[in-house]
Amino acid sequence: MRLTVLGASPACQNPGGACSGYLVEDDGTAVVIDCGSGVFGRLQQYVQPEAVQAVIISHMHADHTLDLMQYRYYLYFSRASRPPQQRPALYLPPEGHNKLLGISSMQDPSSAFFSEIFDTHEYDPTRGLTIGPLTINFVPVRHIPHTYAMRIKGSAQLAYSADSGPCPGLLEVSRNSDLFLCECANNEQSDYPFHLTPRQAGAVAQEAGARHLLLTHRWWVDGTESAVAEASEKYRGPVELAREDMQVTIGR
Ligand SMILES: [Zn+2]
Ligand SMILES: [Zn+2]
Repeated sequence: MRLTVLGASPACQNPGGACSGYLVEDDGTAVVIDCGSGVFGRLQQYVQPEAVQAVIISHMHADHTLDLMQYRYYLYFSRASRPPQQRPALYLPPEGHNKLLGISSMQDPSSAFFSEIFDTHEYDPTRGLTIGPLTINFVPVRHIPHTYAMRIKGSAQLAYSADSGPCPGLLEVSRNSDLFLCECANNEQSDYPFHLTPRQAGAVAQEAGARHLLLTHRWWVDGTESAVAEASEKYRGPVELAREDMQVTIGR
């Protein structure tokens, strides 16, 4: 299993960066997790966008969704060059489709703006998904309503925190994972309860027995190397900070 970081920035991009987005490839299957601003341009450096089997959105915040507009336009303008059944699935959280149409309505009022291009669904977080060799299970976490961390199982096990404050779901999703991709958008002075500090991310990874911690969603102003040092105070395994275009092989 290979993870490519398409966007590791928080709500605003770091210099030269992109908001949240990750490409997961395993045994010929490609899945995109979250699709924030700047992600779609980077995606095309690695795969053909129409060859992606599924785009899965953790929650509907703008920094995780806005490049679905650009992705949709690419598929729309290139539709004549491929069979109509060859199109990525788009899996949104419950209530996500109407929220997405709120973004597209500023330039096109069609309620089919996304669904005529992507094979569009709202996932049932209690059921999970199977995409080729991958199974994706969802765990509700502490952020806006309908935010879901994901456990992605294939030839290895990847856990993704989505955006979340401290909560039991983070431990559940990351337990014994090969790689825990965990947000750390808060600094030590933050009193916002819906994100994590690097120390909190490290503490979850340690308790969960995750084998590798990859910190993400970090604003450069709050410190990057310091984030690794702070997480390492709580987590005894290897810690790295995700950066755009980083590729990590997970498991064998
Ligand atoms: Zn968010
Ligand atoms: Zn976010």
